[in-house]
Amino acid sequence: MPRIMQLNPRLSNQIAAGEVVERPASVIKELLENSLDANSTRIDIDLEAGGTKLIRVRDNGAGIHQQDLTLALSRHATSKICQAEDLEAISTLGFRGEALASMASVSRLTLTSNASEDKASGWRVSVAGQDMQASVIPAPHPRGTTVEVKDLFFNTPARRKFLRTDKTELQRIEDVLRKLSLSHLQVAIYLNHNGKLLRHFAPAADEADVTRRLAAVFGQGFIENAIYLEQAFPAEQGGIGLQLRGWVGLPTYSRSQADQQYFYVNNRMIRDKLVTHAIKQAYQDVLFHGRQPVYALFLSLDPRLVDVNVHPTKHEVRFRNGRDVHSFLFSAIHRALADVRPQAGVGSNVMIQAGAGVEEASFGGAGQAPYTGGGGALQPTPTQRAMMFSGPARPGFINEQLQPYGQMLETAWSASQEPPEGEDIPPLGYAVAQLHGVFILAQNAHGLIIVDMHAAHERITYERLKQATDAEGLKMQPLLVPVSVMMSEKECLMAEEHSAQLEEFGFELQRVSDESILVRSIPAMLRKENAGQLVRDVLADLAEYGTTARIQQHRDELLSTMACHGSVRANRRLSIPEMNALLRDMEATERSGQCNHGRPTWTEQSIDELNKLFMRGQ
Ligand code: ADP
Ligand code: MG
Repeated sequence: MPRIMQLNPRLSNQIAAGEVVERPASVIKELLENSLDANSTRIDIDLEAGGTKLIRVRDNGAGIHQQDLTLALSRHATSKICQAEDLEAISTLGFRGEALASMASVSRLTLTSNASEDKASGWRVSVAGQDMQASVIPAPHPRGTTVEVKDLFFNTPARRKFLRTDKTELQRIEDVLRKLSLSHLQVAIYLNHNGKLLRHFAPAADEADVTRRLAAVFGQGFIENAIYLEQAFPAEQGGIGLQLRGWVGLPTYSRSQADQQYFYVNNRMIRDKLVTHAIKQAYQDVLFHGRQPVYALFLSLDPRLVDVNVHPTKHEVRFRNGRDVHSFLFSAIHRALADVRPQAGVGSNVMIQAGAGVEEASFGGAGQAPYTGGGGALQPTPTQRAMMFSGPARPGFINEQLQPYGQMLETAWSASQEPPEGEDIPPLGYAVAQLHGVFILAQNAHGLIIVDMHAAHERITYERLKQATDAEGLKMQPLLVPVSVMMSEKECLMAEEHSAQLEEFGFELQRVSDESILVRSIPAMLRKENAGQLVRDVLADLAEYGTTARIQQHRDELLSTMACHGSVRANRRLSIPEMNALLRDMEATERSGQCNHGRPTWTEQSIDELNKLFMRGQ
């Protein structure tokens, strides 16, 4: 065995660098964090070859004192904490004092800074050699700091091998920028690559700017398909002082990957299992199987309640009151999503956009406003009214030319319930027809509404079943003639074993032989249903869940199965009043924008969009 010896500073820093400096993007992250901690308002980034040849970050922040310059490059040197207690309440992005030292050990690094207002002043330090000795020379620099990192990993070939193409490295850098741009809205950021301006984030002064930054991160569609939320759980109300704000994407705006989920704790972007779980749970009821929600959420809390010193990259945190944080996140987001239903001014909730007005409405949080029964916000303009009830929308012209069609339309028109004079048009409007036994066509102030009637009804039934179960359990409806159902022995056993539970759900079942049971009652809400099939499906679910505890856990799934039975089947003819009743129920039902499986239940096509389809007015 060789004898033990102290490693030289460069080597020990290189070992430490392994954790912090993985690629150009991690250098950018650390440098930007430093600039932000120094209260910069403008940051200029220059890159060459995806950052592998050169990364230069220049800021107009507080600067570093001449005497501190060399110290800044040594390991465990920081201005952000000084004693153990400081570690308990970290409010800066950095605090470990190792980023610059790590970078310096795996690149050719120069640091130039000026902490004064004197433009002629400024000092530069570069590191070289095994022992990382640094020499300070004068170098004029406006107030602020420039860090230049050249030839990353030039002396650590093993690391260099892991670098990808310049393009890939550049993409990762842009990703870091996007994340930071959302949490630091007041800072202007310029990104140049190989001498060309690539990205520019202007300081966000108003809502339109914020929307622009969001669009840069999530794409244009997000803001139109997102709900803005703001929730607080103040200490005075028994909370621990939590505040949440940000945007959650509508369930219909989900993705197959979890790649657009941004969560910030005290303005630091983090990844945390507890957080992801809470949010996932909040979406559980409304998201199509396997889909991932999109969000940008900002949680603020007392820094003493969260430990950021968990991992060198500071991507992870540990909450001191994990449970409180979990339930707060869950309920805030759950609530916001529950309010997603057809509403005045919010526009369509799916693919086809309603157009003007949507952006403003969802940004300002109007998406959360309670449904007002169609009153208030939705006041059609005189032109809209005219278009709906007399003008171009009514095909008088076709009427005269093509008698048979005309007659057909005429009946649909007279059968539709037009609102009494002076009454407001509800968000989903009034039904005009049923299409292929599947869709309801309705018209509202904006244009055409198309509803998937089974999906919509299923959601309504489901929400009602949940509410009733929460309240006093489901009411039973005794059958005049009990129905005998043949089943597997296992299912019959289940029925027997869980009879108490089944009663809560409104079923009264009696086992009459090894393989048959008698259905005596079913839930009153589902009384029109085929009792045998309903019971069979519910027992199949039970068999899957097994224990009583698991049945309770899966209660909603069970109710969802039941709801599927209780909902209008495709191909059932609905009368116009029935359709209108369904539309009104949708407006009043939580989460009615999606069916139980997260698919959209309705969509809107505005008159403008319809006009475009026919190239009218072009
Ligand atoms: P940390 O950020 O964890 O303190 P770093 O190695 O990143 O550690 O930086 C060391 C110190 O150098 C910081 O504490 C700060 O005082 C100073 N520093 C680094 N970058 C800047 C900057 N852009 N502006 C002002 N001071 C800086
Ligand atoms: Mg730092």
